[in-house]
Amino acid sequence: MAALGLKQQNIVEKYALPKHVVFCQKCVVSNQRPRITFDEHGVCSACRYAEYKRTKVDWKERERELMELCARFRRSDGSYDVVVPCSGGKDSGFVAHQLKYRYGMNPLCVTWAPLLATPIGRVNLDNFIAAGFDHILGTPNPKVTRLLTRLSFLHLGDPFQPFIYGQTNFPMKMAVHHNVRLIMYGENGEVEYGGNMKNAFIPTRQIEDHEEHYFSGMPPEFWVDHGVSLADLAPFRAPAYEAIMANQTEIHFFGYYRFWDPQENFYYCQEHNNFTVNPERSEGTYSKYASLDDRIDGFHYYLAFVKFGIGRATSDAAHEIRDGKINREEGVALVKKYDGEFPKKYFAEFLEFTDIDEETFRDAVDCWRSDHIWRRENGAWMLRYPIDDSAAVQATR
Ligand SMILES: [Zn+2]
Repeated sequence: MAALGLKQQNIVEKYALPKHVVFCQKCVVSNQRPRITFDEHGVCSACRYAEYKRTKVDWKERERELMELCARFRRSDGSYDVVVPCSGGKDSGFVAHQLKYRYGMNPLCVTWAPLLATPIGRVNLDNFIAAGFDHILGTPNPKVTRLLTRLSFLHLGDPFQPFIYGQTNFPMKMAVHHNVRLIMYGENGEVEYGGNMKNAFIPTRQIEDHEEHYFSGMPPEFWVDHGVSLADLAPFRAPAYEAIMANQTEIHFFGYYRFWDPQENFYYCQEHNNFTVNPERSEGTYSKYASLDDRIDGFHYYLAFVKFGIGRATSDAAHEIRDGKINREEGVALVKKYDGEFPKKYFAEFLEFTDIDEETFRDAVDCWRSDHIWRRENGAWMLRYPIDDSAAVQATR
């Protein structure tokens, strides 16, 4: 491994993680999720936000705000008036359909190509477009995508980073290019799923936050030092800051204006966009309808599990508990059953795509394991503090 120069990472420092693992009293997330906060009752910021959404927000008033927003940006000359970043999934599909067919906007839907698309993801994207949308697909040079996926996996412990660059920056580029001033995202993941709450009570996202919240402090330009040229990185980069400002681009979240419920979005898209679920559940979780479009996806979640001790099932169960779909006990059982399951279905393709052998893969994964999360038992990695049925026991450890 020395040949690649991979070294053990200090993730406590890197992600400013608490050294003692504590689980939320209401859901199944732990305090190891970066930027999440817990209150004095041991309840996470995402659960508190979910309560706030259910009990304090006047959703009629919020929809009135949305109508005002649409009126402010709507155009009558036939040009696009909103950019909707779309994967073809249930959430973006819901937002685009609502904006066009309920609020009378003229959306330009834009998709950043998956790193390694799945057949069902492509079917859903085609079905979505066929439901009545203008659409642009951004596809960067696949050789560069492969190289960036490899580098991000080896150096950031997240092969998904190149996709996140494009997913964040491509819509902005298209907005500037087509002189559209409004970009509408679905939910604000930072506040819905736990993170920095500074934007919880406003509808917009600051472009300045992109680097910290989405790029782990490492923008596309970072890879120049690893031999990737600026020309190759260009499709992944943001438009010039001055161009965004000159275009007066505003980024809003639909979830601020309308009650955000992923399961309801799924039913909506089945009805309106011909959205199809996977016949089998996604590895690492129990759900069949979220994040279906990329074969690299499972590795993103798996690495999150290695780094933080919480994986895809934790994330799915946590928000289903907050949405009142399941209770905590059921959530704990689902986490115990599925969290951290190895994404073996696409493992061979992942190795081929990133040009990495199996041993290098294991070494690269293990350098993100922290002592405060993992222990070694009989040659196997075990979570030091797996989720317990009784959150209170965890809290006092
Ligand atoms: Zn919680």
